[in-house]
Amino acid sequence: MIELEKALQILKKHLLSPGKETVPLSASPGRYLAEDLRADRDMPPFHKASMDGFACRKADLPGPLDVLELLPAGQVPTERLGAGQCSRIMTGGQVPEGADCVIMQEYVEKESDKRIRFNGSYSESYICRKGEDLKKGAFLLKEGTFLEPQHLGMMAAVGKSRLLVTRRISAGILATGSELVDVAQVPEGAQIRNSNSMQLAAQVQRAGHTAELSGIVRDDKDLLAEKISALMERFDLLLVTGGASVGEFDLVPGVLRDLGFSSEFDRVAVQPGKPLTFAQGKGKVCFGLSGNPVSCFVQFEMLVKPFLCWSAGGDLPHRRIRCRMENGFTRRKSDRLFFLPVVLRPGGGCAPVEYHGSAHLHALGKLAGFAELAAGKTTLKRGEEVDVRLI
Ligand code: AMP
Ligand code: MG
Repeated sequence: MIELEKALQILKKHLLSPGKETVPLSASPGRYLAEDLRADRDMPPFHKASMDGFACRKADLPGPLDVLELLPAGQVPTERLGAGQCSRIMTGGQVPEGADCVIMQEYVEKESDKRIRFNGSYSESYICRKGEDLKKGAFLLKEGTFLEPQHLGMMAAVGKSRLLVTRRISAGILATGSELVDVAQVPEGAQIRNSNSMQLAAQVQRAGHTAELSGIVRDDKDLLAEKISALMERFDLLLVTGGASVGEFDLVPGVLRDLGFSSEFDRVAVQPGKPLTFAQGKGKVCFGLSGNPVSCFVQFEMLVKPFLCWSAGGDLPHRRIRCRMENGFTRRKSDRLFFLPVVLRPGGGCAPVEYHGSAHLHALGKLAGFAELAAGKTTLKRGEEVDVRLI
């Protein structure tokens, strides 16, 4: 059995290299950026009014001021302002030369059609200065960034209509267990539905890659070997759920070895999720994950997700926050790093969700993340601070 950190170090030695491709900006959310992005121009690109009003010289206030021209957004000013002059300007309009402030229309009185007076008190210029947000050439986004909606606007603003991203890794997902039936089937006798494959496919997709459901195979060594061997040919990565433990029908680790793959580890000191085989060879990798639904979920988040993220050039597989425990929590055994499903509470707190162990699939539906208890630590006191990995 190895520590999680050690397992992650081993994974880093066997990362995949999916290569790069160019995609349109609209197809970039959920992809890993494969180039550094810089600003192609100053932002804003000109001195810009941030209010509807009149562009003028502060020294001339309160006026009266002669109105020279109308400057809606998108129009280049034709007149330079001199003493006692102003131009009507709209939010987003280019501030004319000579002006050093914009006064809000709410504080302006009209003396005539072409003459106004300021009746407010001056507080700020209401001008966004050229380049104040970003200078031309400034660093914008780092290679490896996992692209999300908040990145799209900034990339659009600097003209990245197409960009270089990492190719998606293709993952096959195989469930093994003689008790398993397809989701659409009604289980009979001692059968249960295969819930893990769907869950894993969604996890792979959320991590920015593609997943294909590759069916269910009985606990039969030959069938399993045949199926795994075929799938390892087709996909970059294979996720097998079930049969990874030490029971009589836990055949996955042995089958992988028989097929000539090198098993790098098969137990990780985490709870839930200890039985976990990682095997590699011929440029392909396979994770043999637990059949227990919560264990399988945790193993993906803690090991497979970082593997996929790093393989794609990303460096931040998890978001972590510090939270205060709203209730205490105690566990009996403390030999492994423990992941406790929690919900977040207003005011920076978190609370454990009802959790009956690694088969308790419904606990997953409520959680916001997992609070970490280091090996050796049995108790979290009420009010104690913990690290929570957000899901
Ligand atoms: P195993 O890892 O094969 O020993 O399975 C551990 C537990 O998880 C058993 O109770 C299995 O019935 C259950 N299980 C295995 N595979 C799945 C699956 N694909 N979906 C839901 N539960 C599963
Ligand atoms: Mg099984």
